[in-house]
Amino acid sequence: MPIKHDLAVGKINCCQVCGSKNLQLVVDLGHQAPCDSLLWKHQLDEPESTYPLRFLVCEDCSLGQIDYVVAAEELFFPDYPYRSGITATLVDKLSQTAVSTLSRFDFPKNTLVMDIGSNDGTVLNAFKERGMKVLGVEATNIAKIANENGVETVQDFFNEDLALSIKNSHGSVGAICATNVFAHVASLGSIMRGVSTLLDEGGVFVTESHYLLDLIDTVQYDSIYHEHLRYYTLRSLIILFDQYNFTVTDVERIDNYGGSIRVFAVKGRGQEVSAAVKSLLKEEEASGLYGIEVYREFANKLLKARRDLLALVVRACDEGKKVVGIGCPGRSSTLMNFTGLAPDLVSYIAEQETSLKLGLYLPGLHVPIVDEKVMFAEQPDYAIMLSWHYAKPIIKKLREKGLRSKIILPLPEAKISDI
Ligand SMILES: [Zn+2]
Repeated sequence: MPIKHDLAVGKINCCQVCGSKNLQLVVDLGHQAPCDSLLWKHQLDEPESTYPLRFLVCEDCSLGQIDYVVAAEELFFPDYPYRSGITATLVDKLSQTAVSTLSRFDFPKNTLVMDIGSNDGTVLNAFKERGMKVLGVEATNIAKIANENGVETVQDFFNEDLALSIKNSHGSVGAICATNVFAHVASLGSIMRGVSTLLDEGGVFVTESHYLLDLIDTVQYDSIYHEHLRYYTLRSLIILFDQYNFTVTDVERIDNYGGSIRVFAVKGRGQEVSAAVKSLLKEEEASGLYGIEVYREFANKLLKARRDLLALVVRACDEGKKVVGIGCPGRSSTLMNFTGLAPDLVSYIAEQETSLKLGLYLPGLHVPIVDEKVMFAEQPDYAIMLSWHYAKPIIKKLREKGLRSKIILPLPEAKISDI
């Protein structure tokens, strides 16, 4: 019987890719609010919804995963505060999906390329500039921006029904991308069937997902949150694609989001597989990802980092010093709440003046998010770098702008930065 890949809201009882019951609990991060559910001041008086946040690994296919599905409407609301085309560096990074795909596959001009979760159309624009026809699918209101910018975009959730209607209106598709959404969707089966409907034999499905090896290596437990249901190894992706008659033909590691993998899966079994696939599988095995010990060590490291961070902050506060946070990526919610950093310990989180998060509060412990001007004026004794996976360039910029505070790096080990 085929494995069911369309998850219902609530507790998950078996592996999300292979269906195995051999799931090992790695760490329980407690009940947490969805990480992007920032609150307005008036909401602080209301109850908040929290959900179990447990990280497990499958002993059979080595998929990292959480075991609770929160309803999509609660996670991805229409005004989701995220837009990809904001900075030149990010545009450049996202364009690499097109560059890398077109260097591997020889598509005739005007081949139709699609992107699932296409945001403001930045990824597709790079394909368009290189002679492809493009079509985006994006559920949030950002779809309107994409259409205004000339990237045709359907505002909807991608699923097998939508795929069928796109096939009728637009015909066959040469390539479909899913960058940083493939680990997030609960209706994975519907997506896979939809992708399979749209692609002809030999068509390519390009996915980019946060990579479990990077997560484990650099102790990124703060990237575990409800939006992020699966943490792929290459092995687990091969097992998943095989169930839909796709062959994983190539892979590359990329540095997006603190370490991701870009995987090329071609429709049809028995396609030629690159040396990169074989070598990364070997590396996963050599790194211990197919055993259990490496995950135990990961849990020990993250728990120690959490104790050390809390001790550092408590000591500073006992000495009458002021501690704040810098930068408020989605992942800061898991880190702040799991560590127990309430406003009596961390007064506020400073964000750039253009941030859509100013004036809001973190869910859970309600640390306020304020304009970084406040921090520059106050020069607090310590500032915790919450975007620690990009620490170096950010600290350099903050120093240039005149910040003198000592900077605390929370992970992979809690310590004071020497820059
Ligand atoms: Zn599994």
